[in-house]
Amino acid sequence: MKKISAIVLAAGKGSRMNSTTKKQFMEMNGKPVIWYSLFAFEIYGVDQIILVTGKEDVEYCRKEIVGKYGFTKVTDIVEGGKERYQSVYNGLKKVTGDIVMIHDGVRPLVSGAIIDRCVKGTLEYGACVAGVPVKDTIKILDENRAVTDTPDRNRLWITQTPQSFTYELVKNAYDKMQKSNSENVTDDAMVVERFSDHEVRFVEGEYSNIKVTTPEDIFIAEMLLKRK
Ligand code: C5P
Repeated sequence: MKKISAIVLAAGKGSRMNSTTKKQFMEMNGKPVIWYSLFAFEIYGVDQIILVTGKEDVEYCRKEIVGKYGFTKVTDIVEGGKERYQSVYNGLKKVTGDIVMIHDGVRPLVSGAIIDRCVKGTLEYGACVAGVPVKDTIKILDENRAVTDTPDRNRLWITQTPQSFTYELVKNAYDKMQKSNSENVTDDAMVVERFSDHEVRFVEGEYSNIKVTTPEDIFIAEMLLKRK
């Protein structure tokens, strides 16, 4: 049996939320946003959870999240870095599993079905990302907002998390990146695409698996949670 670890990221500053409370700790239907992702990984068959948060929030997470709600699979609460990929790298150092699922702690609607598809996808392909096909037409613009290209919509997918990999693969890719160029790295698949020869596959995510980023997202996520 392969052991599965999850890194749940909550070290972002959340400047687009315009709030003094960071979005990962805002309350949604009576629970902090971060509670929902931790709960999903706790109940859907993950062996280890590593929570990454800001230095100033480690104690808060220990007492008010992990302790208060009794998450038993959280083995480590680690300090994040300035950029998302630095937070991931700090989390990777604590992984004891064979498979690592990396998840934005601000995606509270991750479901058991998505987690399951990611695990199966990783067992089969070694590297997989949850995502959904785009519904809108996407344009590439130049600095004057003039259209320079319209990519074929049938080949465009929205990237979500979890992004899931065999530990060896993702750790090696992140190690290589430390010694090289990490410009514009916004997700984990990019690190594996750039710093390994391994193919990254998509598995089906869900349109409801939104990233809580701006104030209206809290409202939308609350509605979606009520429907669950
Ligand atoms: O900033 P972005 O929306 O890409 O953040 C996605 C996730 O990564 C969030 O859960 C956020 O808390 C986390 N993050 C982090 N460390 C950073 C930046 C973002 O853990 N330095």
